[in-house]
Amino acid sequence: MTAIRLGRLSILACGLLPVAVVTIAWFVSRWDDLSGPPVSFLDALSDLPALMGMTGLVVLMALGTRFPWIERLFGLDRMFRFHKRLARWVVGLFVAHGLLRTWFFSLDHGHSWTWSYLFYFGTGDWGLLVGHLAFYSIFAAAGFALLGQRRGFPFRVWKSGHLLIYLVVILGFVHAVKKGWDDMATFPTNAVFAVLAGATLALLFYRAIYRLRRDRRFTWRVERLEPETYDTTSLVTTRRDDPGPFAGRRAGQFSVLRIKQRWGWGEPHPFTISCEPAAPALRFTIKAVGRFSAAVPSLRPSTPVLCEGPYGIFFPDFAREKRIIMIAGGVGVTPFLSHLRHAVRTAPDIQVTLIWANKTKHDIIAGDELHALTRRLALKIVHVLSRTPDGLPEGTDRVVYEQGHIDAEILRRHLGEPAASFFYLCGPSGMQEAVLGHLHTAFGIPRGQVKRELFFY
Ligand SMILES: Cc1cc2nc3c(=O)[nH]c(=O)nc-3n(C[C@H](O)[C@H](O)[C@H](O)COP(=O)(O)OP(=O)(O)OC[C@H]3O[C@@H](n4cnc5c(N)ncnc54)[C@H](O)[C@@H]3O)c2cc1C
Repeated sequence: MTAIRLGRLSILACGLLPVAVVTIAWFVSRWDDLSGPPVSFLDALSDLPALMGMTGLVVLMALGTRFPWIERLFGLDRMFRFHKRLARWVVGLFVAHGLLRTWFFSLDHGHSWTWSYLFYFGTGDWGLLVGHLAFYSIFAAAGFALLGQRRGFPFRVWKSGHLLIYLVVILGFVHAVKKGWDDMATFPTNAVFAVLAGATLALLFYRAIYRLRRDRRFTWRVERLEPETYDTTSLVTTRRDDPGPFAGRRAGQFSVLRIKQRWGWGEPHPFTISCEPAAPALRFTIKAVGRFSAAVPSLRPSTPVLCEGPYGIFFPDFAREKRIIMIAGGVGVTPFLSHLRHAVRTAPDIQVTLIWANKTKHDIIAGDELHALTRRLALKIVHVLSRTPDGLPEGTDRVVYEQGHIDAEILRRHLGEPAASFFYLCGPSGMQEAVLGHLHTAFGIPRGQVKRELFFY
């Protein structure tokens, strides 16, 4: 599997291309009105945010389907963050469309402003009614999305509410055909609508087929649970059939897990596959931080687990990257566990320094195994412990203990001259930001040179 993580400029180009196509199509179809009196101009102008909003909605639906080939270009973390940002823009575009139409309607009826158009729910003009239902449904869907970000809000409720987006798309198309057909029916806008409608149908079809095949392709079962520390447990899942899409997985990738409940599959949670890719089972090393992760240690053997994926592009190219610096915070070490378990068999000549921050020595996961790997790989581990009530453990030349937090001084002391190194960072957001700053202070390394995995969206 090849993974090309697109840079910022390529992403910008991907975003600007549909904006340019839609604007040109709109411009061509509404040119006469745009060059006419102010009321016609406003009439034409109000269609642009609607066209862009519909395009944005279809892109949001595509991002929500987590296509593996899109994910490989952007990374799921970036896709989800982009999804959030784009969603805000889409809501803004529909608000702009509603307000511009209200303004146009007001002027057209001899008022400077009247709200009656925006709150029209009569059945006399059903094309308008459908548009209004779409308009208000999008606020409901956005509301559910916002509630979903609140801790403890039931996933099932917000997910069902968020599916209103599909209704918005369908109502949006009906409204556009009924209300905008006379003004917009030129070849470029017809082509844009045909592409959007085709993409929507293809997405709905893909989702339906995916859901039908999902259980067969992705169902694994709990084989065993292994306590790693006082709050971290490894969940090992196996499967009687072949591993399906996981056969070709890469070290450091992750899967989105759902546990079987009485009423169906539970909510999805992403976890890194912490074992090496050649392992027949999938191992997830999970720290108890909330409702889902705290329930993992009490899962019973044989419980079905839906493991979707594999996702992620957080992996070094061992053939090219010979000197690698891994910086982890707490359970953010899981992708590195997978990389090191893989490297010991496939690339024993690579040089790795792992700088790993934990609160205490009791938070260190798989410590004995990792320390043993320092004898089989050119691996140095620097444990940075923020709390050492019993003093610092004794280290060796390959396993070093430091007290405090990862800072420029510790980085300088252990990385020497890291110019030819490749940097990988995974940990909580605050820790990542601090480390990026210290890498810049210590060695002038720009943040763009550090590959990162985010454990939150
Ligand atoms: C790519 C990736 C890989 C990860 N790998 C690991 C791993 O190997 N080990 C591990 O212990 N944790 C990992 N996590 C974090 C793990 O997904 C969350 O800790 C877990 O979902 C928390 O759920 P909860 O109900 O236990 O806690 P909650 O109290 O619901 O959430 C705690 C925090 O976890 C994050 N979170 C919650 N639900 C989700 C979700 N569905 N999707 C994304 N983030 C969520 C949020 O930032 C939230 O504030 C990973 C996250 C990502 C995105």
